[in-house]
Amino acid sequence: MNESCERFRANPAGDPEHFEQCESCQRALDALDRELAEAARIPTRPVAIALPLAPWEGASDRPWPLVAAFSLGVLALAAMLFMASGVSPLAGFLSAIQGSVFPRVGLLDAGVIFSKVLEQAPARVHAAVGVAFIAANFVLYRLLRRPARGYDATR
Ligand SMILES: [Zn+2]
Repeated sequence: MNESCERFRANPAGDPEHFEQCESCQRALDALDRELAEAARIPTRPVAIALPLAPWEGASDRPWPLVAAFSLGVLALAAMLFMASGVSPLAGFLSAIQGSVFPRVGLLDAGVIFSKVLEQAPARVHAAVGVAFIAANFVLYRLLRRPARGYDATR
């Protein structure tokens, strides 16, 4: 490395032709490239593998037998209660399923009934509904506009 090399390395844009002619500077750049490539090859492990499993994350920790046993216990208890009340368990389960699949009062009927009740309500109820609406929206607005904790949100 001579004086012109030092001048080139201090200011590469000042003498761009020096690099094409100087073998020493080309070797130095190759060495730098190799160092950068080595530095980029730092061995890493995915974070999810590096961290230990939480107790609820392992597939073997899922208590499906316990869930199945509890469900069967609830079914057995329901069957015993049906028998104790004089209803055959099969008929009791069938009527329970029919009651949940085909509800007698639909959601639409309930909405119509509720709206008729509201129509006939006194003015005080209407005012209370309006005040409750405004109060709930004020609370939501305050929650949304709450300043963040942990750092200065104004910067
Ligand atoms: Zn040089």
